[in-house]
Amino acid sequence: MARFNLCIGNFNLADRNHVEAAVATTYRCPLCGGALELMEDGRYLWFGCWRCKIYVRREKGELAKKFVDYRRRRFMWSQMMEELYRIFMSPVG
Ligand SMILES: [Zn+2]
Repeated sequence: MARFNLCIGNFNLADRNHVEAAVATTYRCPLCGGALELMEDGRYLWFGCWRCKIYVRREKGELAKKFVDYRRRRFMWSQMMEELYRIFMSPVG
């Protein structure tokens, strides 16, 4: 199986209890072909595959700093998704 960046956690079933929201995205898992999903808990956004249990996560505060366009008062949603997908697809080493 491919290896991914160190920010990946192996996501435990129990952790899903803390998830506040989860949505399927149009991105596809390279391993199983399933829809990748975006989840949110109190601190993090998680992006990855539920079936394969592979996720990347980023702190919401960090993402807000990077992807909120304060001048235009909007959130750069698609740029964030592209970055999360790029991180997800980056093999380690
Ligand atoms: Zn998968």
